[in-house]
Amino acid sequence: MKHILLFAGWIFCALAHGADFVVAVSVDGLGSGYMQTLVDAGKLPHFKQLELQSAGTTNARNDYDITVTLPNHTSMLTSRPIKGSAGHGWTSNTDPAKGVTIHSNKGAYIASVFDVAHDHGKRTGLWATKTKFSLFQLSYDAEHGAPDTTATDHGRNKLDVFKYNKASRALTADFVRAMNEQPCQFAFVHFVEADSAGHGSGWGSEAFNAALIELDGCLGQIMDLISTNPALKGRTALIVTADHGGKDKNHAQADAPAIYTIPFFVWGAGAAYGDLYAFNSGARRDPAGTHPAYGEAPPPIRNGEVGNLALHLLGLGPIPGSKLDAQQDLKICRPVPGG
Ligand SMILES: [Zn+2]
Repeated sequence: MKHILLFAGWIFCALAHGADFVVAVSVDGLGSGYMQTLVDAGKLPHFKQLELQSAGTTNARNDYDITVTLPNHTSMLTSRPIKGSAGHGWTSNTDPAKGVTIHSNKGAYIASVFDVAHDHGKRTGLWATKTKFSLFQLSYDAEHGAPDTTATDHGRNKLDVFKYNKASRALTADFVRAMNEQPCQFAFVHFVEADSAGHGSGWGSEAFNAALIELDGCLGQIMDLISTNPALKGRTALIVTADHGGKDKNHAQADAPAIYTIPFFVWGAGAAYGDLYAFNSGARRDPAGTHPAYGEAPPPIRNGEVGNLALHLLGLGPIPGSKLDAQQDLKICRPVPGG
């Protein structure tokens, strides 16, 4: 495996072939600074492995306006900002009221990565550790999902699997079992414990660090699955990012560096090793310590790019109506020299 990965480090974009499976993991509350302190202390071997082997950055950004969980995950899954006419409009961060969907809230259908993948015959899944993720289950079910107007009708239910478990360890075990049994071509996994510990004891506290160490183990199980399962090995890309960081015991302040500075790693099939900003010179700009608004060009890499990047890796076009990586030009490979 090491040799394969070593070769992958030199993938040029002209030779990149994408992936047959994409797994996206969101670590709720994973501010880059807190992660880096523990990586440097040797406490997070799998996050460290991502830093050493992925196309990545620890200087990505979340949504400009709102830095809480459900709105940012809606951005990841729809590749839209939250506010504005092109935004998905979901600003609430509590369990959705009965019968309310992303579409009814916006007054228009808001397509997701699940729509495009499922309409093209891909199996899709969402594993979450907060009950409010039921928003996605309801918004994309057989009643509320859009009709499939592509060549073959795969139905209105865009999510083949939806699982909730309050504990990431149990959720990961279920995810690994399910992927071994009948893999999803696009799967999204959400880990809660760092966020809960941050709210309870503070970001960077002992409890927060212990939660991240536990989640590093869960991440390792997913990386192990991808590296060893015969169907997934060499054919699967893993995206790891976060909805927000945190400061003291909260993360509502959108212009606080500890809250808006998050990682974005792409590891496995199709991904080279190196700095994502270096791979995307001209199309994305490392914002250093700043907090660029939407419209500033080139933009920073944002967590909301997950949906369209995943589809691009799967060889599919962008989410209709999306704005983040809508050109699907985020490169996870080395630009061809002189090209
Ligand atoms: Zn939180």
